[in-house]
Amino acid sequence: ISNQYMQPYEIYQENMKTEYGQKNLALLNLEKALEQEEFVVCYQPVVDGQTGEIVSAEALVRWNSSGAEPMVPSVFVPELEDSGYITKLDTYIDQTVHRFQEERYCQEKRMVPVAVNLSRMDLMDGRMTERIFTEIQETKVPKQYFRYEIIESACTIISTQGEEFLESLRQQGVQIFLDDFGTGVSTFETVRDYTFDALKLDMGFVKKIGKDQKSDAIVVSIIDLAHRMGMKVVAEGIENQQQSDFLRAHGCDYLQGFYYYKPMSAEKFSKLLDK
Ligand code: C2E
Ligand code: MG
Ligand code: MG
Ligand code: MG
Repeated sequence: ISNQYMQPYEIYQENMKTEYGQKNLALLNLEKALEQEEFVVCYQPVVDGQTGEIVSAEALVRWNSSGAEPMVPSVFVPELEDSGYITKLDTYIDQTVHRFQEERYCQEKRMVPVAVNLSRMDLMDGRMTERIFTEIQETKVPKQYFRYEIIESACTIISTQGEEFLESLRQQGVQIFLDDFGTGVSTFETVRDYTFDALKLDMGFVKKIGKDQKSDAIVVSIIDLAHRMGMKVVAEGIENQQQSDFLRAHGCDYLQGFYYYKPMSAEKFSKLLDK
């Protein structure tokens, strides 16, 4: 074999080694962090477009690793997804949200649905889907208070088993939302072939409101499309009144963004609901 062919081969081997090393590191860190309860679930309230009242929330993970600023998911979620360990984390997040809902329900406090983000890996993991399914069946909390968000690329790749899982959750009254709508590769096929309770309009479109006529036309069309298909629309990433006014004027059902509420601790969120 000439040098010409040797080189890429060597590079490939090097890459494989690093990748393998990183996977182990990710797992080690993850297990330590889970044990030491470094992962925190934040809750970002979602408001009704007409009344401004809090109608639900989304659970968003933060990683408080040794003294530093809490890490946001973009720093560690992609790596955990690539290595498959995301399911371990999402199991923890899901169980934390279940406990949160069960406690409030037992104390007869005001309830709103709380959404958990699921990765593609979660939907392909039979133990994960079975655990969620069993937990939902066994809880005393009415099913409408549990909700899952998945992104389009997750639906297009999952097996029939994953599809059946989502459908069986829906049949029990658990809502399934399609996250980051408008950014995927086969957006229309996805909403045609799968059933969702709502579309989450991606933040990228919200950011451009009032700045780009084409983008605004897409926003209006997505709201119309969702309604024609019997789905609700949640807009995410609303940061100012102009964005809020535009979305409400065009009939967007629910609004989520820093303009209303930032993600907050469970205690803060509880107090807010109790008010
Ligand atoms: P996502 O599910 O689309 O979540 C919405 C993201 O938008 C959150 O970012 C939220 O903090 C952010 N956001 C909300 N309102 C505003 C706003 O007005 N302005 C701006 N600039 N951002 C806003 P976050 O928490 O950093 O999460 C990023 C992504 O990481 C999420 O996107 C989701 O895909 C993923 N993620 C978060 N938590 C989990 C989790 O527990 N499990 C999994 N598998 N993925 C998660
Ligand atoms: Mg989400
Ligand atoms: Mg999103
Ligand atoms: Mg996202």
